[in-house]
Amino acid sequence: MCAVKGYIQRKSMLYKTGVEYGDYTMNHVLGCSHGCKFPCYAYMMKKRFGQISSYEEWIEPHLVSNTLELLDKEIPKLKNKIKSVQLCFTTDPFMYGYDDIAAMSIQAIKKLNEAGIKCCILTKGILPIELAEFSNENEYGITLVSLDENYRKKIEPGTAPYSDRLEALKNLHEAGCKTWISIEPYPTPNLINQNLDNILTAVAFTDKIIFGRTNYCKEVSAYKQQKEFYNLMAAKVITFCENNGIQYHIKEKTITE
Ligand code: SF4
Repeated sequence: MCAVKGYIQRKSMLYKTGVEYGDYTMNHVLGCSHGCKFPCYAYMMKKRFGQISSYEEWIEPHLVSNTLELLDKEIPKLKNKIKSVQLCFTTDPFMYGYDDIAAMSIQAIKKLNEAGIKCCILTKGILPIELAEFSNENEYGITLVSLDENYRKKIEPGTAPYSDRLEALKNLHEAGCKTWISIEPYPTPNLINQNLDNILTAVAFTDKIIFGRTNYCKEVSAYKQQKEFYNLMAAKVITFCENNGIQYHIKEKTITE
């Protein structure tokens, strides 16, 4: 187990996202030990705006120590406006091996649920089974872009092994929770040659699949057939979901003319 590198304080916690899915979000950690090399959009933005100076600094997470106090202040003001809160956009709520982050995430989810607010969770870590005791409106998701551990170690080195991640999600599904999978950012064949069918088969138990291309990556931009490839992969996801009664969402700009 690891301990966070340190603590910071923030002035606010809940904010509205401007993205195509997601309503409000909260980010109660600065940095992320998962250290994804997709590259990570959150890392790029924090670096651009001077909140982080290097990758080494990014992978040493700092927990926002006043998270619960901020939620106590903000929830009463915002609860009538919020449809759902996504954990998280610029970090990971169940960072692999960080019990202190997971404990804070659980307390935050509890507070939001007690106020009647649904939470939508996404992680590359392990979802704890105790989440099954929370609101059955909550949605629990993992990112899964491959099943190849060598690729995971290269591209998302600090994350939980794929099989452990999947097993934790399956346990929540079997306990009656709503579950979903984010297959994003999906790699092109010059990054890894793999069969999307195998990933889809492994996640066939989930309620929803979100599929999206890789952006901001030199290798993907260099892959000449990327347009045809992503159109084909998106069509595969749609057919699979329609045949299996799974909801789906294809991220903007994944399918192109
Ligand atoms: S898990 Fe998410 S926030 Fe963390 S490094 Fe990877 S992409 Fe970035």
